[in-house]
Amino acid sequence: MTRFSALSILRQALAGNSGWTPQWPESQPKAEYDVVIVGAGGHGLACAYYLAKEHGITNVAVIDKGWLGGGNTGRNTTIIRSNYLYDESARLYDHAVDLWENLSQDLNYNVMYSRRGVMMLAHNVHDVQSFQRHIHSNRLNGVDNRWLTPAEAKAYCPPLSLNPNARYPVMGAALQQRAGTARHDAVAWGYARAAAARGVDIIQNCAVTAIRRGADGAVTGVETAKGFIRAKKVAVSAAGNTSVVLDSAGLRMPLESFPLQALVSEPIKPVFPCVVMSNTVHAYISQSDKGELVIGSGTDQYVSYSQRGGLPLIEHTVAAICEIFPIFTRMRMLRKWGGIVDVTPDRSPILGKLPVKGLYVNCGWGTGGFKATPGAGHLLAWTVAKDEPHPINAPFTLERFTTGRLIDEAAAAAVAH
Ligand SMILES: Cc1cc2nc3c(=O)[nH]c(=O)nc-3n(C[C@H](O)[C@H](O)[C@H](O)COP(=O)(O)OP(=O)(O)OC[C@H]3O[C@@H](n4cnc5c(N)ncnc54)[C@H](O)[C@@H]3O)c2cc1C
Repeated sequence: MTRFSALSILRQALAGNSGWTPQWPESQPKAEYDVVIVGAGGHGLACAYYLAKEHGITNVAVIDKGWLGGGNTGRNTTIIRSNYLYDESARLYDHAVDLWENLSQDLNYNVMYSRRGVMMLAHNVHDVQSFQRHIHSNRLNGVDNRWLTPAEAKAYCPPLSLNPNARYPVMGAALQQRAGTARHDAVAWGYARAAAARGVDIIQNCAVTAIRRGADGAVTGVETAKGFIRAKKVAVSAAGNTSVVLDSAGLRMPLESFPLQALVSEPIKPVFPCVVMSNTVHAYISQSDKGELVIGSGTDQYVSYSQRGGLPLIEHTVAAICEIFPIFTRMRMLRKWGGIVDVTPDRSPILGKLPVKGLYVNCGWGTGGFKATPGAGHLLAWTVAKDEPHPINAPFTLERFTTGRLIDEAAAAAVAH
């Protein structure tokens, strides 16, 4: 594998960029692996990387029905933050933010992690109280988050309108300075490249059609479009398709799958220095390195696997953006798309062992799992390797939906769903 460095880039430039080799090989499935991971999104690929790097388990296949990173990993608006309410969530998301800090160096691949700050706008008294409660809770957990007055919010993000007659006036904001964005494709590619370099097989265009169990109930492998693959350990990290995949193992998951949409504008020069989220008016916005405004919308209110989503949601989001940022009123939108997000009843993920020997799951990240990519992969790898959860993901069990130990983060999720 070519190591990226200033010198290697210079050498390639002088050679007319003719010497770059593929970043990972096109693998065909072997008959058996120690671990099979279903889903080559960021989470599945990160799990494979940490299995190889930290646990020495390299006889691993990551299998995807499409191309790697073609699911929600390549469709999201890339917001990274850890300002969730509960202690369990703060530990989980901050673990991921810690890993983001040095991810480019670790992978030798520039994931463009940008700590530009995420500002969450408050539009009414209840918003103010809710965000201040989050700030107090975050601080107790060592997670940075602070309150900004409307004037301070405007100073941080100059395009923001403070029109007092707006339907949803800005009454202040919570700012997590350490939060920001990263380049989503690069995250998938970086993990894929680094995992493959350690011996992991990445098998694309190969749907897993069923999980097989033996007479004792334990996992024996997966049926795929390219035949049966034996494995004593199978980790499912298939986002919106998780419930379908696990149904084949006889498990009914507490998940609903909804389309979530995003859109981008025509590119403009840099005008938007941070990420702004408004949960109340249902819009969030940042500016990409290409200059496009990246805008997140809401989920459709019905279950679907269409990866598209309805137009009314987009209209609603764009109207909200125009109200908060009138400066953007005359901009053109370039394109929109959707992804299928997997939503749990308490809006927190399920990450751990399942009640089937050899079967593990990482799902339920809903509208907010990109930020968790390194952490989720790291913790899933630990759980698979040791056959027990890491203390950080131990509370995020499937069983909490029967015991009632919920971790209700609906108010911290950016998108009401
Ligand atoms: C529009 C949108 C905006 C978002 N914005 C944000 C944001 O700003 N911040 C944030 O933190 N999160 C955001 N999210 C959520 C985030 O994208 C996801 O939670 C995260 O990317 C999930 O990663 P993953 O690797 O688990 O899933 P995915 O990237 O979806 O990977 C799952 C993979 O499983 C594969 N698969 C499914 N079924 C099978 C099968 N039967 N056989 C083989 N492979 C299979 C799929 O092809 C897919 O590649 C957003 C999501 C969307 C859709």
